[in-house]
Amino acid sequence: MKILKFLTSLALIVSLCSTVGCRRQTTQTPADIVVKGGQIYTLDATKEWVEAVAITGGRYVYIGNDGGVDDFLGVETEVIDLAGKMAMPGINDAHVHPMDGAIKDLFECNFTFTADPQEIADTVTRCVAQNPDAEWIRGGQWGSNFFVDHDIESPRQWLDRVSGDKAVVLSDDSVHNAWLNSRALELMGLDKDTPNPPGVEIVRNDLSGELTGLILEGYGYLRGLGPILDSEEYKTAAQHVCATANKFGITGIKDASANAIQVGEFLKLDRRGEMTVHFASALETPYGARETGLDLEELIQQRDSLKSNNVDTGFVKIFTDGVPTAARTAAMLADYTTENDEVVATAGHMHIDEGQLTRDLIALDAEGFTVKIHTAGDRSVRVALNAIAAARAENGASGLRHELAHAGYVNSADITRFKTLDAVADLSPYLWYPSPIIESVIDAVGRPRGAQYWPIKSLLASGAPVSTGSDWPAAAADMNPWGAIEAMITRQNPAGDYPGSLWPEEAINLQQALQIFTLQNARALKIDDKSGSVELGKLADLIVLNQNLFKVPTSQIGDTQVLRTLFAGKTVYLVKE
Ligand SMILES: [Zn+2]
Repeated sequence: MKILKFLTSLALIVSLCSTVGCRRQTTQTPADIVVKGGQIYTLDATKEWVEAVAITGGRYVYIGNDGGVDDFLGVETEVIDLAGKMAMPGINDAHVHPMDGAIKDLFECNFTFTADPQEIADTVTRCVAQNPDAEWIRGGQWGSNFFVDHDIESPRQWLDRVSGDKAVVLSDDSVHNAWLNSRALELMGLDKDTPNPPGVEIVRNDLSGELTGLILEGYGYLRGLGPILDSEEYKTAAQHVCATANKFGITGIKDASANAIQVGEFLKLDRRGEMTVHFASALETPYGARETGLDLEELIQQRDSLKSNNVDTGFVKIFTDGVPTAARTAAMLADYTTENDEVVATAGHMHIDEGQLTRDLIALDAEGFTVKIHTAGDRSVRVALNAIAAARAENGASGLRHELAHAGYVNSADITRFKTLDAVADLSPYLWYPSPIIESVIDAVGRPRGAQYWPIKSLLASGAPVSTGSDWPAAAADMNPWGAIEAMITRQNPAGDYPGSLWPEEAINLQQALQIFTLQNARALKIDDKSGSVELGKLADLIVLNQNLFKVPTSQIGDTQVLRTLFAGKTVYLVKE
């Protein structure tokens, strides 16, 4: 409605202007901001590149050349001279766990995904020494293949040796699996007599039954048992999320699984006028196996009480399976490899069966929720598509574009179903290129099937809606999108520190990658009516880059630096020159 009104007034100005032949006369109402002298990639097919924009009330009132924008200059107008630099719409990250990432950045004990035992021992020892008063040390993230590559008989006792009197919990790179020391197990009330919670495996020694300290699919489960941050820490974390996003040129994020406390922090930020991103939140549902329906009333209550101008809570997250790494917890259509002697044949498993998922989907779709379904294996992808098909059959076309998160393994028979069902493939290009975690996946799934990972080109060719996200802090060190954009084009490790390429036949081009990261992801956040492209009446979510992505070698795209980020016309990040 706002946009309509705005466009009407704009049309009035333009028509007045043309009847008096006013070009070059400053009969235009002066704009708040004029951005000029640049190469602005608009993502609007009718006007792909422009030199200048004018912004009033946070929205674009002019898009065109430098000559035309001068009509919008007034004495109070702020002028941003791009000096030939490239600008484009802000990036949207459609799958991220921002509070977990911020908490990791700010309050946890961190080592790299490739850390060896010595490095982990040194890091934990240092964190223990630096935090004498802490009861807990949380951190990570050990590589998915860490316990395949390193022969550690009791991970728990190994960790005890470096953890002093602290309770230590370390997550893996997928943030699905956890490694605990004895003190942590004790404080969480877990011992050899504790039965496995649904969908979770508390790993035990085959002979003694003692806990090894590893808990597969344990991260979400432990969150309910472990230490909780205080409100001041949550507030700091939410602010860190916004600042970190803006630094990378991100102006919209979709939290892939958030609880009420986490969403509440962003709501408070928005009420204080401090939000500098559009925030969409997939409300979390119980993790792990579930045989009962969801608490719809609770979800509706959260949705209705936690939304604001920049916070949209009309989304729900459901986990259907785990990860296709050495843990072998993603649900596959065929068995994982059994080359490693200690591994029994498995095709992974679903947390919830197809009947339950279908009932959830029908109910959530009917209530107007868009559902993000974690589907890491080709079986969970198929089951989720079946459930969406059932929802469409029952409720008709709701217009809600439910998402299959990760969807890296898609059986060729299922590719065209995304378009048919208007279901979104929510892909993870920040992690899907040759790296240790991908090696772990290919080892577990086996060649050649394992290396046929994320068929994005085929999905796009079939007309499938596609979105992308960092999944930070799962397997991505940060939210920086530029390496991911490069990897979509090269299918190679953008940092150049791991050889090879991952299914290069599925590479796409730069235009396609940028389209997904701006407009398509805006659609996933349901902000495409007001953001995602440079178009008249849309919010000026605009970023300025240090290089023109179309003019540098593809291998340099990952090095892109953001110089300035505007959120609704306001500069929220600026590199001082
Ligand atoms: Zn995720």
